[in-house]
Amino acid sequence: MAKRDYYEILGVTKSASPEEIKKAYRKLAIKYHPDKNPGNPEAEEKFKEAAEAYEVLSNQEKRQRYDQYGHQGLGGNGGYGGGGMNMDDIFSQFGDIFGGSGFESFFGGGRGGRRTKKGTNLRVKLKLNLKEIANGVEKKIKVKRQVLAEGVTFKNCSTCQGTGQVKKVVNTMLGQMVSASTCPACGGNGQIVDKKPAEADPRGLVLKEEVIAINIPGGVADGMQLSMSGKGNETAGGIPGDLLIVIEEIEDDILQRDGNNVVFDLYVSFIDAVLGSSIEVPTIDGKVKIKLEPGTQSGKILRLKGKGIKDINGYHRGDQLIHVNVWTPKQLSKDERAILEKLKDSENFKPDPGNSEKSFFDKMKEFF
Ligand SMILES: [Zn+2]
Repeated sequence: MAKRDYYEILGVTKSASPEEIKKAYRKLAIKYHPDKNPGNPEAEEKFKEAAEAYEVLSNQEKRQRYDQYGHQGLGGNGGYGGGGMNMDDIFSQFGDIFGGSGFESFFGGGRGGRRTKKGTNLRVKLKLNLKEIANGVEKKIKVKRQVLAEGVTFKNCSTCQGTGQVKKVVNTMLGQMVSASTCPACGGNGQIVDKKPAEADPRGLVLKEEVIAINIPGGVADGMQLSMSGKGNETAGGIPGDLLIVIEEIEDDILQRDGNNVVFDLYVSFIDAVLGSSIEVPTIDGKVKIKLEPGTQSGKILRLKGKGIKDINGYHRGDQLIHVNVWTPKQLSKDERAILEKLKDSENFKPDPGNSEKSFFDKMKEFF
């Protein structure tokens, strides 16, 4: 199913300020909150949708990527990134949105204040060649991630009795006040390691090498970051962090990338340019034969439609552009020279750019 536009979901314009986005989300979160709409799956869907939109648009980096590349820029269709938010993720945003206690009291002290602990993110670099970038590719990458050791068990933290918070009664001039803070013994998890195998660290984690398969969509660019949610480091009593994949483009020796187009510099002999010829050129998907018309000028640009790079949004594919360069010989034999000398004064060999099929300027106009 096609994903809805995040701005549309929140009902704001593309130029909305962070404050406007926050306000719009706050309104929707209250309207569709599950406590207010028990047993209403449609409301829950809307609630999740709004949370996902807010998660992206409230993050400057993610918002920029979304503006530029759409849902695909966030890896949305590849099974990572957005779409994977669970209720815990959503409620963990609320501290930020509702300033801590506001939301909780609105709903009579529900789950608003609950914060989910998240493992740390892992970041790997992934080198891709032009063909992989053009068509998209499935890659298997090896990562070392922290996972919960087998056989590890947990028990309620005795310091906070499993609540994750410690409360202190403070005597002030205004009377007694209760202040709550994250439990230092369990880091807010409410759980601590009870039994663990010898190789696990005090948090019950071991380092494990894993091979993870990722579908890279066609059209990614150097420096772009894809994220697979939940494939980062695990943490006791929380959700795993994300695996961030940073794309590195390997430059091609022959074909150059220009946005979604691929550019190839073709050199043809003066004879072929004059008489026309059938010439083999390399493309991303192997060699193809092209026809060079008789009388082809140097500088002409030929277009192989759809032989370029997939659009990151998946709707369109770029072209291959062939820049024709006519090769002028540097050395001539006596016989060759004699033939050319004979043609020297022929009217047909005098440059007449105004009369050639199209001027450079017209070509540029056609191009843009
Ligand atoms: Zn504790």
